[in-house]
Amino acid sequence: MSTDDPRPSGGGLLLTDVTLTYPDGDGRLTALDRVSLTAAPGTLTAVVGPSGSGKSSLLAVAATLTAPDTGQVVVAGHDAATLSAGERARLRRASIGIVFQQPNLLASLTCVEQLQVMAHLDGRRAAGARARALDLLDRVGIADHAKHRPHRLSGGQRQRVNIARALMNEPSVLLIDEPTSALDHERGAAVVSLLAELTHATGTATVMVTHDHSHLVHADQALEVIDGRLGVLSSTTT
Ligand code: ADP
Ligand code: MG
Repeated sequence: MSTDDPRPSGGGLLLTDVTLTYPDGDGRLTALDRVSLTAAPGTLTAVVGPSGSGKSSLLAVAATLTAPDTGQVVVAGHDAATLSAGERARLRRASIGIVFQQPNLLASLTCVEQLQVMAHLDGRRAAGARARALDLLDRVGIADHAKHRPHRLSGGQRQRVNIARALMNEPSVLLIDEPTSALDHERGAAVVSLLAELTHATGTATVMVTHDHSHLVHADQALEVIDGRLGVLSSTTT
């Protein structure tokens, strides 16, 4: 074991035997059925599966937004069940980047300001934040639009800003729900390839939900959810 990382789960994400049910008429609907998953730092995990199979539920549990009925969720070495609601919120701000399906940018802010807000919410210093925001926008290919508001950008460009914003606080875990659903195939493929590159460069443990099997070529680990059960399609991680 390496001495500079004493925590076995490191900066990644660990789900163990997670079950999640929702109320459904007189009974319960099982959205996640004994799901276990390891997302290691610096790897891209892609999750595919039919609509309604539990993909978004999986991300909500991993994001500590929804508590599972049973099972364990460990983010960056923290067991979510042992934390108070306030501590979980702090963990999300500091260690989890979330990208939802639609780029939910704030219409009144420029691209660089969208990123700076994240640092401000996490109590980080403003001076360093602006430089970091500009650097991230450059890395996602949006440097020229740093001072533009989102309405000037295309759908693909907005999704790139959304991804840069999620990386602003150097999250250990990056969770992304169908980042390409609003994009054509070519732009979608470019966004996924960028995600793989950023994941490897920043050491983030990235979990991306997608309905497009062609995106799996960029993944270090490919998983499939069917009726709440998770199976491995392919893996190059240990
Ligand atoms: P996916 O993202 O793969 O389409 P979801 O995780 O959104 O799947 O949904 C999994 C199952 O759980 C579906 O049957 C869905 O209808 C149900 N479900 C999702 N969210 C809720 C909720 N908040 N309340 C009740 N049922 C839900
Ligand atoms: Mg979904």
